[in-house]
Amino acid sequence: MDGTRTARILVLGGDHIGPEVAAAGVEILRLCAEIAGMDIAIETDLLGGASWDVHHSFCTDDVLAKAQAADAVLVGSVGGPEWDEIVVTGPVTEQDGLIKLRVGLGVYNALRPARSWKSLHAVTPFRASVIDGADVLVVRENAGGSYFGEPRGTETLADGQVRAFEMSEYRTPEVERIARCAFEAAGSRRGRVASLDKANVMETGRLWRDTVARIGREEYPDIELEHLYMDYALYALCVKPKEFDVIVTDNLFGDLVSDMTGALAGSLGMLPSASLPGPGRVEVAIGPAIFEPAHGSAPDIAGTGIANPIGSILSVAMMFQYAFARSDVATAIESAVERTLDSGIRTPDIGGTATTAAITDAVKTALLNQANERK
Ligand code: NAD
Ligand code: MN
Repeated sequence: MDGTRTARILVLGGDHIGPEVAAAGVEILRLCAEIAGMDIAIETDLLGGASWDVHHSFCTDDVLAKAQAADAVLVGSVGGPEWDEIVVTGPVTEQDGLIKLRVGLGVYNALRPARSWKSLHAVTPFRASVIDGADVLVVRENAGGSYFGEPRGTETLADGQVRAFEMSEYRTPEVERIARCAFEAAGSRRGRVASLDKANVMETGRLWRDTVARIGREEYPDIELEHLYMDYALYALCVKPKEFDVIVTDNLFGDLVSDMTGALAGSLGMLPSASLPGPGRVEVAIGPAIFEPAHGSAPDIAGTGIANPIGSILSVAMMFQYAFARSDVATAIESAVERTLDSGIRTPDIGGTATTAAITDAVKTALLNQANERK
């Protein structure tokens, strides 16, 4: 984005609370674009179960083409029990709309930041002394590993047993490119990378460890690198989270560890993500990126108006940072969220009684106040 033309954003709310939190993100997006004097055009479409119900596809080729033509894609969340039993034959991309979108956009670099918020220490299961200042960035390999490996399938054997399997597979270039993303990210943070794997028992883990080590040694000698086994790393993240800066790990482990970091932030509902087709710089020359909260579709609270929209709102902040090269706007959004939390306005997952709409309004008010203070 060069800032002079209209930015096109495709919004795919998805299922259950997905459209609720995406709508909150869109409100913040519109307001911030107005304050920043940016022209934006927003288009919405279907993804996940909502798309299945209309098109019998979890992500139509038309939606994928719209995403490919956009500057950024804002996703809510997809899935729910209504669609769990549907089995689509063919590649895994046909079974999961979000995965089709991720593959179609080539967004192999999923950045999932999590930080502790002073005013939320008391709602976390941690003592303040353990988490005060904790600030981690999970760099998740987002396009390979067991989520994609072939062969995969479920079959009934002659003796009646059911056998389910999927192949976990990584190739050197896949690990090299995500390692570079992690080292690049660490270079603009505190300069430390922890690489998580199961090199003690998994072939892919050994390749992972050797490759990350080599890229670190040859290309990023100034970044401090440590290798941890995935099981111990989860323990260490709970016991001494402040020792972590950037975490890099494979698709499955990254999915797991990023939900865990939600406990540091106070709720799964607080976590944003950006899935980029390259390292964390302005990516528009390469292609559009996906911005979405890390949480799922939370069917248990859908329709009640109490979903925490902060993960979605902070995903919009990441959109300004990575897709529009406006880290000033990203910082303003994060400050507005912090002010809102400090003022005690919270959804139930972080210990309050406020609605999605009330939080969104409070963040908008804080953004307007901040803009006036700057004048
Ligand atoms: P989930 O993240 O949807 O919910 C786990 C718990 O966290 C629930 O109690 C939920 O109410 C709560 N929660 C999540 N987001 C919240 C928010 N913004 N505000 C307040 N509370 C929130 O995970 P799940 O229950 O394991 O999965 C539900 C569905 O979501 C499944 O169909 C799953 O496949 C899907 N899913 C989708 C994505 C995605 O779209 N990226 C990610 C994970 C799971
Ligand atoms: Mn997940």
